[in-house]
Amino acid sequence: MDPYRLPRTVVPSRYDLRLEPDLSTLTFRGVETVAITVHEPVREIFFNAIELAIDEAVVVDARGREQRATATLDETTERGRLEVAEPLAPGAGQLRLTFRGTLNDKLRGFYRSVYKDPTGVSRTMAATQFEATDARRAFPCWDEPAFKAVFAVTLVIDPALTAVSNTCVVSETREGARKAVRFADSIVMSTYLVAFVVGELEATDPIAVGPTPVRVWCVPGKRRLAAFGHEIAVASLKFFEEYYGLPYPGDKLDFLAIPDFAAGAMENLGAITFRETALLVDESAASHAELQRVADVVAHENAHMWFGDLVTMTWWNGIWLNEAFATFMEMLAVDAWKPQWQRWVAFGVSRGAAMSVDGLHSTRPIEFPVTAPREADAMFDVLTYEKGASVLRMLEQYLGPETFRAGVHGYLTAHRFGNADTGDLWAALGRASGQPIPAVMDGWIFAPGYPLVSAAIERGELVLRQQRFTYLREPLRWWGAGAAGASTPARWQVPVQLRLSAGGRDTVERVLLSEAEVRRPLPAGCDSVVVNEGGHGFYRVRYDAELLGRVLSRLPALAAIERYNLVNDAWAVTLAGLMPLTDYLDLTARFRDERDKNVWTILIGSLAMLNRLATPDARPGLEALVRDRVTPALTALGWDARTAEDELTRQLRGDLIRALGTLGNDRRVQTEAATRYDAHVRGGAAVDPNVLPALIAVVAHAGEPARYTEFLERFRAATTPQEEQRYLYALTAFPQRDLVAQTLDRTINGEIRTQDAPFVVRTLLMTVHAREQAWEFVTRQWDTMDRLYPKHGTRRMAEGVTGLMMPELEAAVHRFFQERRIEFGGKVLEQYLEQLRVAVAMREREGAALAAYVARPGAR
Ligand SMILES: [Zn+2]
Repeated sequence: MDPYRLPRTVVPSRYDLRLEPDLSTLTFRGVETVAITVHEPVREIFFNAIELAIDEAVVVDARGREQRATATLDETTERGRLEVAEPLAPGAGQLRLTFRGTLNDKLRGFYRSVYKDPTGVSRTMAATQFEATDARRAFPCWDEPAFKAVFAVTLVIDPALTAVSNTCVVSETREGARKAVRFADSIVMSTYLVAFVVGELEATDPIAVGPTPVRVWCVPGKRRLAAFGHEIAVASLKFFEEYYGLPYPGDKLDFLAIPDFAAGAMENLGAITFRETALLVDESAASHAELQRVADVVAHENAHMWFGDLVTMTWWNGIWLNEAFATFMEMLAVDAWKPQWQRWVAFGVSRGAAMSVDGLHSTRPIEFPVTAPREADAMFDVLTYEKGASVLRMLEQYLGPETFRAGVHGYLTAHRFGNADTGDLWAALGRASGQPIPAVMDGWIFAPGYPLVSAAIERGELVLRQQRFTYLREPLRWWGAGAAGASTPARWQVPVQLRLSAGGRDTVERVLLSEAEVRRPLPAGCDSVVVNEGGHGFYRVRYDAELLGRVLSRLPALAAIERYNLVNDAWAVTLAGLMPLTDYLDLTARFRDERDKNVWTILIGSLAMLNRLATPDARPGLEALVRDRVTPALTALGWDARTAEDELTRQLRGDLIRALGTLGNDRRVQTEAATRYDAHVRGGAAVDPNVLPALIAVVAHAGEPARYTEFLERFRAATTPQEEQRYLYALTAFPQRDLVAQTLDRTINGEIRTQDAPFVVRTLLMTVHAREQAWEFVTRQWDTMDRLYPKHGTRRMAEGVTGLMMPELEAAVHRFFQERRIEFGGKVLEQYLEQLRVAVAMREREGAALAAYVARPGAR
């Protein structure tokens, strides 16, 4: 028997749960009555519990016989076992448990969050985070997604506080010095979706969407930051009811900002919790990027109310059904809400991030067997979210949006209040489309990696070939490698969309590339072929020299997403050693007139990576190359926003200023940034909110030590979550050793919240001037960090080792992880190490060529 899976001999159907948290002693007491069904006459009941003390347990069976049970807990499997003297009679029974626990500071289970109120006084609140497997830290339960039940929650709290849970409050009654807040019965749902929040909370007025009141909650003093999140919450709720063709499944919908929160947000039914940056924002003072983040996360969580909450994956191997769908739906909803944001073009950046990891030998299929809870945690990555959403988008475009939507409606309707698997979704989409969905999709979901599609013209024919794309020829050799895995079929059913141009006329064609190679005749006079037309495909394209020349000659005719993919694919094949770096650098010179923010994201991102792997002597030349590529675009845009300009152009201006002032080390830009920043903070000149974050970053990078103290004060006194983040990350940009040391100390001395500290260290590990010092600090303080940070903290932080792109540092990284035997679950560590190898291999292969290229004055 799998020690991590509960037997189905006794199953729950309803929890009457009463919890009494005490925010002064940081403890809670609980009583629960669980309605159970006994399927076999057993003497044992298994459930999940950890870090709880069970004081009393009584079981009543179908014959009404009441027995006291002895409870034992196993820390390794996180399971509890109740034993009774006489076998339980099959049928409906009841379990009554009394237990105790602690409001921990690890941001999981039932935990405490500490913040300062508007007068500067420290306050405590309590919140929950249960996904994947931490409900068992708050109450004994069958903590697997398939054990769905009704939850009837009562929270007994200090009368001065407010309690929020998944459903509406049905009564509040005084009990001595406390008040008991009773909530309505929930729908039948999984344990990981239960939530309680207790504290001094403020809410907006509700906005009704049909019968559903929608509110935003926060700690006192921050309600003025709720309007934007509230607006997208309402808009996306309407969008999803319409799209899914099913009403919202709960009785109310609350969005809560929690000052300490490990993830971005959590889709608890009716009580969605967020870190503050993902929900609260001052619309008039925020950049496009900051606003888009709020819109994305709110829409994403809202999409889960159906995908995940109403219909839930049977087990954690199917987590992509939740997350990929919510990510895909988030794009649809935000795109419908603000079409001018061109959300699907920006999604190219997310797709690119997934392709980076999925181009490793150490990638994994989207759906993957999961046993231990730690393995479930490792599933929350770009493959589940971004690759998953990408292949859904590809399928949607292939089937047609209306057919796809009909399939989704069928799936949700058939499985509502229940659980489902990937096969159920394929079946529903198959019914809607009449197509063999598994044949097309299984390669994308159950096999690792993706294809590189090569396009060439041979004897008047277009030839398309596919092979698996990997950065390295062979898997990484490292100490943790197990037996070589089964070789995976390197062939996919690739829905390829082509745009053929002949005599000034464009035609779009679809080809299903299912073999290693397909050939099709070209129409007469065809002078250009764009592969992956519209940019939705999850594959890379490599044109032969002749085709590439033709595509480049018509660059302005390409859509923004197609230009993005062109650069992104070229950069990837360069990293893989399939294209000389000098060719790539020549290519970037053709984008000086580029005006799309996302295309610039990949251009700047590739230059930033070159800066990390360049030898010190090549760096000044590389800085000059950055100035050469970026300056024309900023000159054309100017420093000041123009009235008729759209939001994306304004964001681009900020991105270009940041790139020039940091990566380009442009003194004039640094001086101008400092002047404008000072004028702004003195209350004089207004600065566009898209530019202000860039000014802060550039001023920090220029590195006057007095600025460090100033920025630290501004971090502490920030009045919005976004302002706090800007100044926090600015602290990482100062180059002085003593300032780097100060920032590092602040990641473990309590000054930087543990929800942020791992990301700050990650940034330092990826920053040229700080990385060696940061790595040395990490190796010394690892145990402290592991103790202080939330569960995924050190895993997130360790991603920074991919920035240590020097052979001696790479060796040190291997030594450290090998000696310490550190594991993150899944293939996470192996992926970091392979990414590091890709970068160091590039440095070894192309370092000299890079130095020579940037040293040649005319070449730039
Ligand atoms: Zn999600």
